[in-house]
Amino acid sequence: MNSSIISKMEKAKRYIQERNRITFSLFEAEFHGEHDNYRLSYKENRWNCSCNFFGTWNVCSHTMALQKLLSDMLPKGTLPHEISLEPALPHSR
Ligand SMILES: [Zn+2]
Repeated sequence: MNSSIISKMEKAKRYIQERNRITFSLFEAEFHGEHDNYRLSYKENRWNCSCNFFGTWNVCSHTMALQKLLSDMLPKGTLPHEISLEPALPHSR
């Protein structure tokens, strides 16, 4: 294989470990929820989701889940309130 392609692949592997290099500005996704499929979008710090809950609250489980998954790769403060989705683990220290 071409050596310059190989060096790009090495660089890409390093970038995968450094996700904070990437900041999404725009995307769309289809979310397969428990009851239905929803259309999610993100543009200029604003989320949108086609589910009914989002229509009322401007936040929903779908946007929360995606925000958590992409947290390193979104500008800070992209949801109206910071929501802790850390699992409530029993103290085991
Ligand atoms: Zn939703």
